[in-house]
Amino acid sequence: MPDGFLTPKRRTIRDVDGLIEAGLAAEKSRAGLEQVAETYAVAIPGAIRELIGTPDDPIGRQFVPDAAELVTAAHETADPVGDEAKSPVRGVVHRYPDRVLLKPLLACPVYCRFCFRREQVGPDGGVLTAAELEKAYDYIQGQAGVREIILTGGDPLMLSARRLGGILGRLAAMTQVEVLRIHTRAPVAEPALVTDALADAMDIAAPLFVVLHANHARELTAEAVAAVRKIQLRGVPVLGQSVLLAGVNDSEAALADLWRAMLRARIKPYYLHQLDPAPGTARFFVAPERGRAILAALRGKISGTALPTYVWDRPGGAGKVPL
Ligand code: SF4
Repeated sequence: MPDGFLTPKRRTIRDVDGLIEAGLAAEKSRAGLEQVAETYAVAIPGAIRELIGTPDDPIGRQFVPDAAELVTAAHETADPVGDEAKSPVRGVVHRYPDRVLLKPLLACPVYCRFCFRREQVGPDGGVLTAAELEKAYDYIQGQAGVREIILTGGDPLMLSARRLGGILGRLAAMTQVEVLRIHTRAPVAEPALVTDALADAMDIAAPLFVVLHANHARELTAEAVAAVRKIQLRGVPVLGQSVLLAGVNDSEAALADLWRAMLRARIKPYYLHQLDPAPGTARFFVAPERGRAILAALRGKISGTALPTYVWDRPGGAGKVPL
């Protein structure tokens, strides 16, 4: 990854030695985990490490690699939401007539073991060059029907303030574009990434929304909430999105706690995603019937403002449908 794009890294577990040293893996599991780490990126930043009691608790399960990831089920696929099929130029996904995704980089501060882009994301991959960004801008500018641009990745809040501000400025200047959005896990995974300078880069005249990915109430630490607040104080509303995950949040109590914690942080729960069938993620699967039953049971028990829409991203790039 080119220097100067990213803010300095904090100490992060990135390999099996680090996992064993931190007590998150046993020496006897080394061989299997080495294989997992060669296949899918591993990163557990300090802020997340502090939340993990055991590798199998609701936080550990999301981030500590497991040998089960080496088994790909028959229905699992490398590109479950069809990014490739809907990508007209590198870094752009155009799935709906009025929205496009722009992925300026494919690195994340933390790598989720259930990630739907796990075949693409990683510390070395996917930073768009200046020329590629120009091509992406040209493509989007040429799409008269596009009203909204969603910056995703990877995690756009790993960009430096200067680079993020530059990208937001170019997108906001496009005449047909009405709304910008950033999808991120950074405020939870590595709150220190949200510096005043980065938050200032989001203080733009165009309507900008941030969508925070969090799956368990414990992820919304005081530090994470303070990072979110910095963004909100720049006039940027923050929405929440979560994935329904076995052993993490697949209960009425866990989801009620999560969404109430979001509301307390002034975050509106927006989407609950059905798990996408990315390779080696079967241990997180929750049947949609069960998801529906949990949501139905919560209706009326918690405030309507706390309830997101439960959605499934259809394979092949066909888009989301409510479940
Ligand atoms: S932060 Fe998002 S893109 Fe990155 S690994 Fe997690 S789910 Fe995937």
